[in-house]
Amino acid sequence: MMNKISRRVLLGLLPLGAFALTTSSYFYGSQDSLAQNTTGVLNLYSARHYDTDNSIYQSFTQKTGIKINLVEADAAKLIERIKSEGANSPADVILTVDAGNLYRAQESGILQPIRSRLLETRIPANLREPSGYWFGLTKRARVIVYNKSKVNPSKLSTYEDLGSPKWRGKIIVRSSNNIYNQSLVASLVASIGAKNTETWVKGFVSNFARPPEGNDTAQIQAVASGVADLALVNTYYVIRLAKSNKPDDQEVASKIGIFFPNQNNRGTHINVSGAGVAKNAPNRLAAIKFIEHLTEYQSQQIFALSNNEYPVLRGVPIEPILGGYGQFKEDEINASELGKNNRTALQIMDRAGWR
Ligand code: FE
Repeated sequence: MMNKISRRVLLGLLPLGAFALTTSSYFYGSQDSLAQNTTGVLNLYSARHYDTDNSIYQSFTQKTGIKINLVEADAAKLIERIKSEGANSPADVILTVDAGNLYRAQESGILQPIRSRLLETRIPANLREPSGYWFGLTKRARVIVYNKSKVNPSKLSTYEDLGSPKWRGKIIVRSSNNIYNQSLVASLVASIGAKNTETWVKGFVSNFARPPEGNDTAQIQAVASGVADLALVNTYYVIRLAKSNKPDDQEVASKIGIFFPNQNNRGTHINVSGAGVAKNAPNRLAAIKFIEHLTEYQSQQIFALSNNEYPVLRGVPIEPILGGYGQFKEDEINASELGKNNRTALQIMDRAGWR
């Protein structure tokens, strides 16, 4: 009874009563969280630096009346900041790329688990943390790119094969500091075991055409110009070059083929960008509503079309140029395994001399 009364009073005070009502139907245990929704502001701590994401935030504000305060920094800085803010942290949502970063956020105690029927329905189980600490919002595929004039793709098969001596001096990749590579190695640890992964990484590193330098785009450019035959990169970097209005970028993309590894076994390595609710979120209910908003058709379409990522929501078309590279089998390991095996992956990369 008390709950009913306080709820009615709150709704009367809230300019966003309609929002509070619709959300409560999606949400398990909405009684307490409703009382927290008193500010109409969502503090979003984001390590995704894509201008196009802003239109998704604007549509959330239009729909709910909730303003978004955006705090941008890389994932490590955001995690440190929320930790040091402690119980008084204004952070509601943390949004970042790579399951490895999401796992670090979870491990450092700055996230809280949530339940949402919408998120559990829309996002495949392997792309979210099993207890609800974080949710994958877009997928990324880390693939082999090859110089079409130098490599016959029939010679390509698996990540594991890139450790074979036949590729000596022919492969480039960015540094082991990069979380994308750490997560790829972590996926191998989970799939083939630490020992086999270490053997593989040693072979892989001895095939490098040069010590790691530059980002994924730099690897693609170097493969196109003949520095190496192959590189490992996320697909959206290739599509970004293909869609660039600079002729040089388009030429680079035209020289590059994309190969999806491991199609005859577990599938190509998939990573996510994703979000979780901050442990001390002042506006917990809005935080959940916001993450739900990011999984709606329109938001997913924007992620897919403007940043060339793969949507997590079924039925949303992928970007047409990316789609032109074909469909493929995805490794369906749970994304949280990428975080759990991160430390082992890093040790292996260090020992193998992957700089
Ligand atoms: Fe990236």
